[in-house]
Amino acid sequence: MGAQFASDNWAGVCPEAWAALAAANAGHAPAYGGDDWTQAAIAAIRGVFETECEVFFVFNGTAANSLALSALCRGTDAIICHANAHINVDECGAPGFFSGGAKLLTADTPHAKLTVEAVERLAVTPHDVHSARPRALSLTQATEHGTLYTPLEMWELADCAHRLGMKVHVDGARFANAVAALDCAPADIAWRAGVDALSFGGTKNGLPFGEAVVFFDPALADEFGRRRMQGGQLASKMRFLAAPWQGVLAGGAWLSHAAHANAMARRLADALAGVPGTRLLAPVEANGVFIDMPPPMIAGLRERGWQFYEFIGATGVRLMCAWDTPAETVDALARDAHEVARLEGFT
Ligand SMILES: *Cc1c(COP(=O)(O)O)cnc(C)c1O
Repeated sequence: MGAQFASDNWAGVCPEAWAALAAANAGHAPAYGGDDWTQAAIAAIRGVFETECEVFFVFNGTAANSLALSALCRGTDAIICHANAHINVDECGAPGFFSGGAKLLTADTPHAKLTVEAVERLAVTPHDVHSARPRALSLTQATEHGTLYTPLEMWELADCAHRLGMKVHVDGARFANAVAALDCAPADIAWRAGVDALSFGGTKNGLPFGEAVVFFDPALADEFGRRRMQGGQLASKMRFLAAPWQGVLAGGAWLSHAAHANAMARRLADALAGVPGTRLLAPVEANGVFIDMPPPMIAGLRERGWQFYEFIGATGVRLMCAWDTPAETVDALARDAHEVARLEGFT
């Protein structure tokens, strides 16, 4: 199948990750992370963040989020997040499961971005011991609607969370897209902004699998190795989970791939801007275009073979770009949208 716009995890493995995977396939090596590739990948992540963070590789983003959150709060606690957050709508209750019962408190603020006001409103225990106590704030960067928190916005939210007795977790399934788009140091939207734990996404940025849980406060990593084991996320052949990270981090491919995906989303949004009947649902700040389309246009694009998700209201469409999305494919989709609009008589 050629490039599609359903999700950035429909894309394959980038050459840098693939080469690293092949290189790691050299004979025998110690299991469970005792190998050189795992140590090198951890060192590379510490280099990226300019600090001695604690790093744990896991298989997927759901495990990264729910295990990280279970390290930040107990079963009697609450986790504040956006209503659209992956942890709220796409993880089958895993954060509650792994933490032994933590409750999610959500706000439905615009463009999938939490605000200080919304967090302050949620961070209460109105019924004393009858209410779970908010102890963690989870932000998604880039958000589920393709928007970004600026470093200052992250700092303000983290500051508010800490003031109210919460730790700060970031779901960074698309952290690379955020760093590339904001053109900031990774640390500026991580520990320098007050983030305590990060789910650092690899899969959507060209890795075959694997995310890294990064703790900027080493105390939070206490017993996390056991938590990962108990959660069924300790890879015995960890070198294959770790090596692709080194592959994309060493030469900066993680940022150039993310920048490419972002640029393709920008190109797509610009090309769709004049299509009658459509309306952007969120500013295009990372690698996704969220756009409202009339149902006949959605049907017309599907008839022409285009793949995308529809989960934003009745007529909202999500068009995701990946590390390998060709500009020609972006232009072809936009041409088809213009053609459908013309055939349907949209003005
Ligand atoms: C894709 C994604 C994840 C991770 O999903 P898995 O399928 O569990 O790897 C986490 N958060 C967000 C916002 C995502 O888009």
